Amino acid sequence: MLPHILPYGRQTIEEDDIQAVVDVLKGDYLTTGPAVEAFEERIGAVTGAKYAVACANGTVALHLACIAAELQEGSCAIVPTMTFLATANAVRYCGADVVFCDADPKTGLMTEETFLKALAEADSKNFKVKAVIPVHLGGQPVDLMPICKIAHDQNIKIIADASHAIGGVYKDHPVGACDFEDMSTFSFHPVKTIAMGEGGAITTNDPDLASKMKRYRQHCMVKTEGMEPWAYEMNALGYNYRVTDIQCVLGLSQLNKIERFITKRESLVSLYTQMLEGLNPYIKSPCRVQKDRIGWHLYAIRIDFEALGISRAEIMARLKAKNVGTQVHYIPVHTQPYYKALYGEQDFTGATHYYNQTLSLPLYPAMEEADVTHVVNALKDSIE
Ligand SMILES: *Cc1c(COP(=O)(O)O)cnc(C)c1O
Repeated sequence: MLPHILPYGRQTIEEDDIQAVVDVLKGDYLTTGPAVEAFEERIGAVTGAKYAVACANGTVALHLACIAAELQEGSCAIVPTMTFLATANAVRYCGADVVFCDADPKTGLMTEETFLKALAEADSKNFKVKAVIPVHLGGQPVDLMPICKIAHDQNIKIIADASHAIGGVYKDHPVGACDFEDMSTFSFHPVKTIAMGEGGAITTNDPDLASKMKRYRQHCMVKTEGMEPWAYEMNALGYNYRVTDIQCVLGLSQLNKIERFITKRESLVSLYTQMLEGLNPYIKSPCRVQKDRIGWHLYAIRIDFEALGISRAEIMARLKAKNVGTQVHYIPVHTQPYYKALYGEQDFTGATHYYNQTLSLPLYPAMEEADVTHVVNALKDSIE
């Protein structure tokens, strides 16, 4: 008997999550109400950052962070090519340029070395670097310490794209604490660890960055003391990047479960890794570069398709026939036609190597041990 379909990722919504949403629908505030502030407080508590700004999704979280970092035409940000489109696009929304950065071929992560190379590239193009956006791919944090040291010396803001990594730890600091980076951004899309339908947040310890992002979230409308009761003033062009109370109560309810979700993800990851060991020399479990707890979002294995003599598409099709969903994270962003038209053909050997081998297997809290066994057996069959 085939098991139920196992997608690569999926939200876990329980009765109390549903009830929380129903309750807010019966109340006075559907948006801009108390749930938004409560959600921001909770994100602050989970990450340890002083301030959190909730917003409509992870993409606009990045856009708000880029605005706060003063990215604009004539400046640029360094962005890993091994990421989702949104990380780079947010920079373009500001009119700033993107300088792509290579990845470690084993982890897909930005490193000190690839960052330095990108800085040299920006320099050769005469771009003023205002920000760098390391991405904690799959939940595994980028080694921020050496990158921050270099960035701070050059007055470059660090915006960590932590969309994958909530609940994890880096050098004994919770992801998003902003003890190294200036800002961290999060996504609460249903495939991510905490689901709000759509939702995002930025954390920071800098009150000026936080209040600037809050202003831009709501049209840069400002009310000051002594104004007429109806008056407000707009001095810059802002947006409506608000998130509703409906989404925020769902986020709050989900955050009650973060410890359980992360623990379950960890145990599924270690079971996978144990079962994959010795399966085939051409299949490798994720390469872990630190000892701290990881808030695993993806279980991305590396397969040497070339050595196996089977294409990735074929293996994906064989797995799908056994109800196992897989996905590739990610197509290097610099290869997208939009970015090729802007910056021409570029060559990133580390990211390309990682991309050529990566495949994300199902990982989400509702999975059972038997599901992991099924996935590993299906994988075994698909490479024979
Ligand atoms: C999901 C994701 C985003 C964008 O988040 P949305 O909430 O979908 O807008 C940005 N960066 C990374 C790395 C992501 O995985």
